[in-house]
Amino acid sequence: MARLGLIFGDQLNLDHAVLESLDPQRDRLVMGELHEEASYVPHHAKKIALIFSAMRHFAAELRAAGWTVDYHSFDPDSPVKTFTDLVRRACDQNRIEEVVVSWPGEWRVLAEVRGWENALDVVVTVLPDHRFLCPLEDFETWAEGRKQLRMEFFYRQMRRRTGLLMEGDQPAGGSWNFDADNRKRWKGDPPAAHPMRFTPDETTEAVLGLVADQLSAFGELDGFDFPVTREQARRGLAHFIRSGLPWFGDFQDALPDDEDYLFHSRLSSSLNLGLLSPREVCEAAEQAWREGRAPINAVEGFIRQILGWREFVRGLYWLKMPGYAELNVLGNEQPLPDWYWTGKTRMRCLARAIDATRRNAYAHHIQRLMVTGNFALLLGVVPKQICQWYLAVYADAYDWVELPNTLGMVMHADGGILGSKPYAASGKYIQRMGDHCKQCAYKVAETTGDSACPFNALYWDFLVRHRDRFESNPRMTMMYRNVDRMDPDRLAEVRARAARVRSDIENF
Ligand SMILES: Cc1cc2nc3c(=O)[nH]c(=O)nc-3n(C[C@H](O)[C@H](O)[C@H](O)COP(=O)(O)OP(=O)(O)OC[C@H]3O[C@@H](n4cnc5c(N)ncnc54)[C@H](O)[C@@H]3O)c2cc1C
Ligand code: SF4
Repeated sequence: MARLGLIFGDQLNLDHAVLESLDPQRDRLVMGELHEEASYVPHHAKKIALIFSAMRHFAAELRAAGWTVDYHSFDPDSPVKTFTDLVRRACDQNRIEEVVVSWPGEWRVLAEVRGWENALDVVVTVLPDHRFLCPLEDFETWAEGRKQLRMEFFYRQMRRRTGLLMEGDQPAGGSWNFDADNRKRWKGDPPAAHPMRFTPDETTEAVLGLVADQLSAFGELDGFDFPVTREQARRGLAHFIRSGLPWFGDFQDALPDDEDYLFHSRLSSSLNLGLLSPREVCEAAEQAWREGRAPINAVEGFIRQILGWREFVRGLYWLKMPGYAELNVLGNEQPLPDWYWTGKTRMRCLARAIDATRRNAYAHHIQRLMVTGNFALLLGVVPKQICQWYLAVYADAYDWVELPNTLGMVMHADGGILGSKPYAASGKYIQRMGDHCKQCAYKVAETTGDSACPFNALYWDFLVRHRDRFESNPRMTMMYRNVDRMDPDRLAEVRARAARVRSDIENF
């Protein structure tokens, strides 16, 4: 009897635990482009094309390496629509004694896998997921007994554990964190870097045709240029280390009106598909610093995103699921505005972030956090609706990473499990970090009146609405001091403007 290895579409790493555990001479692999996975949220067309193309390339590599791979291509009329259908069919067609998977990226899928022993009468083994540096058990041990889970402390432990950016037991460059040197506004110099572009090959062209005909739910498919193989992803990494990394730190938080990527890497889609490992990406950045090709503030800031944030949100996801997805501690009730899907809003910063999202299946971190995210927070959008949006529209979006970032970091719907305070900010922040406001229909210096920047009134109103929860937070003392300085009549006027924005939001 053989064993069956199911390779999930986002686990395309050659050091996959299933490949290490199975025998290519005796066992078989199965992969599937599944209707359920392609449609449970209205995924960006480029996201589906990326995943299907990368899966097809990976299956070809596995076959070339001697594996037997049953590959199910997308077919909307097929009765095989879910992972369970796929595994059931493979078990019916072959004599299978055990199904082996690596830990999936979504609680929903893990629950499905755990049902197979009963539903399909097979032994099911779930192996670790090698796309991460921190095993889930180690994260649990780190979290145990801590009153608060804070990324910064986790990150320091990860630096010590991996030896990345360390000089003995001390942080390289003399500090754990160089953020004070970052956060500059970008004025066009040096010129923005761009991620390396990859021309679609025959396999990708076939997938693009399929998606255009049958699967396009959101976003533009034209101009697809993502890396779809490990070899391409490695070239994309080398290109970023050369052209973007040296300025990554300085301009990490900048919000230019006309640059989609600035000095961000666009490596998340490759990392999250397993085409790149987090260790090799961090090592490439560290080597650039050691060889004098990038400054420490850039390299430390970049490594912190991967070794710190990426590992931290993943650990937190598995620690807190499934209850985490249900949280809404701020009691938000506002529906997500329809224009999040179309980009048709007169608010320039939002229109630009959503336009980039529609074109590229990408927006950089500050657009996600301080523009689309901040606005949803201030408006009071129902967390599930904004989480569904983020999960659908980005090429790098999977539940393990999207959910903690959106529900926790942006919406503070977890009451502070992920971050100690919400990133609430008025239009002033967006003005300071970029040049959207100069080209906006609204005036960033105004808070009330029909032409006032909607972020402003919503910001003050947010602070007042959630005073009980936040006023004793030491990191928000200054914000409440400013609220208290406001004349009560003025505050009432501001809150009336916020109520108008909220009730008429589709027309902003
Ligand atoms: C509301 C919201 C939703 C997000 N959803 C996703 C998501 O679905 N998938 C995703 O990969 N990232 C998500 N992020 C994190 C971050 O915005 C993206 O990883 C980043 O923008 C990807 O672009 P990049 O590769 O150019 O990143 P860079 O700016 O070049 O950063 C380098 C790498 O660091 C990692 N990273 C940076 N920040 C984070 C973070 N907060 N959490 C996890 N990894 C991080 C990514 O792997 C990224 O490739 C989200 C952030 C916010 C605020
Ligand atoms: S004025 Fe307000 S809405 Fe317009 S770009 Fe600036 S922050 Fe955004």
